[in-house]
Amino acid sequence: MSLIVQKFGGTSVANAEKIKGAARKAIRAQQEGHQVVMVVSAMGKQTDFLVSLAREISDKPPAREMDMLLSTGEQVSVALVAMAIHELGSAAVSLTGGQIGIKTDSSHTKARIQSIDTERMRRHLDDGKIIIAAGFQGIDDDYNITTLGRGGSDTTAVALAAVLRADSCEIYTDVDGVFTTDPRVVPSARKMDRVSHDEMLELASLGAGVMHSRSIEFGKKFDVPIHVRNSASFSDEPGTIIGSFPESAKRAVSGAALTKNEARISIVGVPDRPGSMQLIFSHLSAVNVAVDMIVQNVAAGGLAEIAFTVLESDLATALNAVEKAAALLNGARVTHDANVSKVSIVGLGMATQAGVADRMFRALAEAGINILAITTSQIKISVLVSRVQSLEALRAVHGEFELEKPPGDRSEFGAAPVKVERPSAVDIVARLQKMEELTIDNIRLDDSQARVTITQVPDKPGIAAAVFEAVASEEIMVDMIVQGTGHDGEAKLSFTVPHDSLKIALATAGQVATQLGCGQVTHDPRIAILSVFGIGIRTHTGVGVRMFNALSKAGINVDMISTSEVRVNVVVAADKGAAGLAALKEAFADVLG
Ligand code: ADP
Ligand code: ASP
Ligand code: MG
Repeated sequence: MSLIVQKFGGTSVANAEKIKGAARKAIRAQQEGHQVVMVVSAMGKQTDFLVSLAREISDKPPAREMDMLLSTGEQVSVALVAMAIHELGSAAVSLTGGQIGIKTDSSHTKARIQSIDTERMRRHLDDGKIIIAAGFQGIDDDYNITTLGRGGSDTTAVALAAVLRADSCEIYTDVDGVFTTDPRVVPSARKMDRVSHDEMLELASLGAGVMHSRSIEFGKKFDVPIHVRNSASFSDEPGTIIGSFPESAKRAVSGAALTKNEARISIVGVPDRPGSMQLIFSHLSAVNVAVDMIVQNVAAGGLAEIAFTVLESDLATALNAVEKAAALLNGARVTHDANVSKVSIVGLGMATQAGVADRMFRALAEAGINILAITTSQIKISVLVSRVQSLEALRAVHGEFELEKPPGDRSEFGAAPVKVERPSAVDIVARLQKMEELTIDNIRLDDSQARVTITQVPDKPGIAAAVFEAVASEEIMVDMIVQGTGHDGEAKLSFTVPHDSLKIALATAGQVATQLGCGQVTHDPRIAILSVFGIGIRTHTGVGVRMFNALSKAGINVDMISTSEVRVNVVVAADKGAAGLAALKEAFADVLG
């Protein structure tokens, strides 16, 4: 018998009428012959209300008690939904996370799922009942109630769909699906028919709040098809399928996202030797601050400069930790900027198409927006801009890639272009034992690239655009781009290109540098790029630390870094590539799938 998981977000159960509507949807699915598990969030803004209530009592409420409080929101909704189903004449049972047997670790307010018991759910389903599961909560080994982090009901839903091997997981929300960017911020945003797991992972972690990013990790790991749709639509309009395929095979960019409240921390004068990075990031990981957009550019005069962003709400904690680390790195200085935002574009097609970065940079330059930092991965480009210009920046890039228009080769809704190989049952069972643990899929060495660095780049709009337009006009495929924070009003811009494009890339960069009044162009004909690919890389704060630890132990210096949701890249000297690869494989041996 087929099984459907249906998740209803806060706005979709905000009042009695909507609760009845959700109940009807579940009953209808059951009448169509499916077993049904509903996952329900707290009503409307109830979780926000509970958070503010706690703040009235204490500035620093104990995390355990926060979870005790917040979990009540979902408990109210599941009971009401169960009553609504009974009222409509069907059988239902509401269950808390603990009653289902959703086991988590003990990190209150951001717990991770370790295992889920299916026995009790199966029994109720076989009795013909609709299960109504409380979203976003679990229980630890000591029976303490835990929560999964704000927005975590999506993760409960996809996790239940994974363990129950559901045929589909429907996420009912207050918009028609996943849009090319937040439709409330950019009204011209377009609903996508489908989006791939990797793109959605990047979008969700880069600010597209429609899905909890950890839910997409589950979706990818266990191959759960996710259907995001509007709970208010009576006609059951199709929404967006998050699955193995992108919407278009040709389009370079699928979506754009904004993380508004970021802060940038820069450390200058860091000794350029093995272990410096490890020292800094272990201090941050010790206080559990997730670090984003790490920008480390090639060093000059034995001193490196490292910048990264954290959520503005983590700034004070992060600064404290970094100051301590800097004190151990003689002479390193820490500066910060609390008013920055990150604008990103994401697309699978970017990996194989030249001339994407320059278009993004040109659109920003034309809007008069200065780029404070750049990082790229295979399928995304992120830039840091000043917060007052962030909305304008998002609109500019959304317009530049014509995301409001449907792609020409759009695959029709529901039609999978190619049959997917679903993982075997044995594979699934092996993976299920790990649930939300970090999974590393692959560790690779790419020694086909060379590095070009333009120094003393003036810190004003239009420079990155001019550089990458020139490079793209020579049809050179750029892999990594790293632009460091300019101190003294100067930035450094590095990028990597295939060996056989180095000569022309250098000539082009030299010309542009002269035209724009930059400093010298330096290069390294042979570099090694070490990449760690996996699921949960960003949400597991220790990944960077493990990498830097392993490389530092092997005596290998890190020259450049770029990170994304699914991949971390570091550049090391060419003759250290093989040793670095071996060190990383050893360091991740326990989680390498
Ligand atoms: P729920 O309560 O149903 O979980 P959320 O508020 O968590 O709903 O998520 C839905 C909201 O996500 C939308 O109202 C929308 O403003 C926002 N959003 C942000 N980015 C996107 C995007 N790319 N596509 C759709 N919605 C988005
Ligand atoms: N109610 C929780 C929140 O508001 C979980 C969720 O809705 O996903 O964050
Ligand atoms: Mg949500």
